[in-house]
Amino acid sequence: LMQSQTRSYAQDRVGGFKGKKGSDGKYTVTLIEGDGIGPEISQSVKDIYSAANVPIKWETVDVTPRLKDGKTVIPDEAIESVNKNYVALKGPLATPVGKGHVSLNLTLRRTFNLFANVRPCRSIVGFKTPYDNVDTVLIRENTEGEYSGIEHVVVDGVVQSIKLITRDACERVLRFAFQHADAIGRKKVRAVHKATIMKMSDGLFLRTAHDVAKEFPHIEFDAELLDNTCLKMVTDPTPYNDKVLVMPNLYGDILSDMCAGLIGGLGLTPSGNIGDECSIFEAVHGSAPDIAGKQLANPTALLLSSIMMLQHMGLNEYAENIQQAIFKTIAEGKTITGDLGGSAKTYEYADAVIKAL
Ligand code: NAD
Repeated sequence: LMQSQTRSYAQDRVGGFKGKKGSDGKYTVTLIEGDGIGPEISQSVKDIYSAANVPIKWETVDVTPRLKDGKTVIPDEAIESVNKNYVALKGPLATPVGKGHVSLNLTLRRTFNLFANVRPCRSIVGFKTPYDNVDTVLIRENTEGEYSGIEHVVVDGVVQSIKLITRDACERVLRFAFQHADAIGRKKVRAVHKATIMKMSDGLFLRTAHDVAKEFPHIEFDAELLDNTCLKMVTDPTPYNDKVLVMPNLYGDILSDMCAGLIGGLGLTPSGNIGDECSIFEAVHGSAPDIAGKQLANPTALLLSSIMMLQHMGLNEYAENIQQAIFKTIAEGKTITGDLGGSAKTYEYADAVIKAL
């Protein structure tokens, strides 16, 4: 009963899935294990999926950048795999700070035009945090804004970094936010912005939001300044439980980590990068180099991302079953990882989830 009170990640229908089952009755899913803690948490997903008899075959691909005609690119095999399977589960990829190759995460989002990033964040019943009733859904624009990677040195000691906002990308992500609200039964969409300062760029986002809202007259639309959202959310997150929040790229990145903090940290928050053709599901967190290779990582965020993926693929029964086992294991509190206050190794937690299936 306790577990059933936590709203299901499996209720989040995200985008349309075009993949088909193979002759063996299984779907093939691309797996990008990732860097740092990636291989350890991916192993937990594989072990739990095999114990739960999920009809999926993993196609593991390497995305280590290669040099092609003088440019660093993602290997063709990886791109072909995602294009063929329409869906991928991805571990975190480390990005060099301040130099080196462009972010592979950004490259993947651009390559497959994954324009919307869905980031739900819910309290887990039985796991104690300052708030026990968080249920936020945040949609982050995923392709432009400050993350366009357009930066240059003007003169020594002066750099310019360009925030790029296009009406097309705004329209796409805003329309998705309204459709997503419909899909998960929420009646309110709120745009989060800083159009008071960034009058032109966020102004375009906000104006487009008002235009798109007219296409969805049955959904209440309003807007809020980002700083105000942060203050209100940490004071009392519950007024956000009936809304879908939608915002430009950078704000979504930061605000979703703040939401994670409200429910127990980055070890618990999943996400889906949604495109018209393909979708890639991944945890909100990064490669956690500080704990990599030590079996200290919490695989729940990647697991819940995979639950969103199963729902996206229409494999709802498996999604519910695995999710219940996860929530039960965390609520019991006996075999949980260090970030949640326990002392279980990554594989011990995965074993406990398998026993709870
Ligand atoms: P991070 O999310 O990797 O780690 C932040 C903190 O949270 C660390 O203390 C880490 O130990 C902890 N943490 C994260 N995930 C955890 C888990 N599953 N279980 C237990 N603890 C966990 O952020 P960072 O240190 O700023 O970034 C590290 C690298 O990851 C960077 O190269 C960054 O670019 C990359 N990154 C990748 C993605 C992605 O692949 N989508 C997202 C964010 C950061």
